[in-house]
Amino acid sequence: MHAVVLKEHGNLDQIAYAEVPVPEPGLDEVLVEVKAAALNRLDLWVVEGWRGLNLNFPHVLGSDGAGVVSRVGANIEGIQPGDRVAINPTLSCGSCRFCRGGRDNLCADFAVFGEHVPGFYAQYQTVPWRNLLPLPDSVSFERAAAGSLVYVTAWHSLITVGGFKAGEDILIIGAGGGVNSACIDIARFAGARKIFVVGSSEEKLKLAREQGADVLINRHEVAWDKAVFQATGRQGVDIVVDNVGQATFPSSLRALRRGGRLLTVGNSSGPELKLDNRYIFGKHLSILGSTMGPWQDYTNVMNLVFEGLLNPVIDTVFPLSEGLDALRRLEASDFAGKLVLRP
Ligand code: ZN
Repeated sequence: MHAVVLKEHGNLDQIAYAEVPVPEPGLDEVLVEVKAAALNRLDLWVVEGWRGLNLNFPHVLGSDGAGVVSRVGANIEGIQPGDRVAINPTLSCGSCRFCRGGRDNLCADFAVFGEHVPGFYAQYQTVPWRNLLPLPDSVSFERAAAGSLVYVTAWHSLITVGGFKAGEDILIIGAGGGVNSACIDIARFAGARKIFVVGSSEEKLKLAREQGADVLINRHEVAWDKAVFQATGRQGVDIVVDNVGQATFPSSLRALRRGGRLLTVGNSSGPELKLDNRYIFGKHLSILGSTMGPWQDYTNVMNLVFEGLLNPVIDTVFPLSEGLDALRRLEASDFAGKLVLRP
């Protein structure tokens, strides 16, 4: 079969469209014929690699997949070849206290397809049966793949960890990317009073507007923390979603209302923070971090995607053979919405 593989860590020059063997499903696994796979910024981190990430090369990238069951392992009942499926992008041991308590994203053995194990930029991939979610005929494979990781991450951060409630004001730092777009969509669905979005380009802010953002701020034109403060009657917002980190945390703290929460699932500008603690205790602020999300959140959010109540935005669908072009678009941040591959 064909796959988009990483030959070794480095840069995108290490990506190849290659012929690799079709994997064999284990007793409790299913072989899925991949019909759509979505890109995530995580792909670029995996290409670079980090200490402790030990991959077998060539490594198949891709965390988000959807497709059709091709073969099933000997222990599996109730899943048939031909079934349409969405695939939970995360793996865990299933037996530790976190997994048993429904917090499987805290599992010590937590793993993500395409990051720790082979992923979905391939014509076929094996998946544990419990990672499958039935995909209704009315929902495209592209839509299922485009939701997945960014939607479970955003839902877990915003709803489960952040306790976002109808009537609250929210500020999202960054437009156009996967998790932030999902946060706009979920905040609109959950009844935000006002959604503020800070973005770097008019095109990305236009997408945010189409998704339901109320106040758009171009960070090249104004100091956004001041703009938010003024637009809220010098109160600030209840929640800031900040996945930029180093460059923006000080301003995010200033933009929060007393008792507000800063939510973070990443740090695209760098991990080391310099904070003025007076904001944190003086304004009773909480900083809440999380990564990915547990099974229950994946099921909840994907069913809302399936029902059309949440709407992942797709920028471009590429054939699998053009995976490298798609990854270069991802690297250049030259997109608004999800980039999707179709084997
Ligand atoms: Zn576990």
